[in-house]
Amino acid sequence: MRQKITGFHLDEENDWVADLECGHTQHVRHKLPWQNRLWVISGEGRTEHIGAALQCKKCDQGESV
Ligand SMILES: [Zn+2]
Repeated sequence: MRQKITGFHLDEENDWVADLECGHTQHVRHKLPWQNRLWVISGEGRTEHIGAALQCKKCDQGESV
């Protein structure tokens, strides 16, 4: 299910995590070559992605929040 990003926070390992409108969270790491998300490292990049949709696997699997 696609869910909009409402914000971002850092986890205990200093990786960026997106907060989704469904209440779930999802890592948005920048780790080449699998995840090319250079934008997540800059504050501006993150601001631009608030409101963007991410595929929420937790919703697809029926996970509770
Ligand atoms: Zn979800």
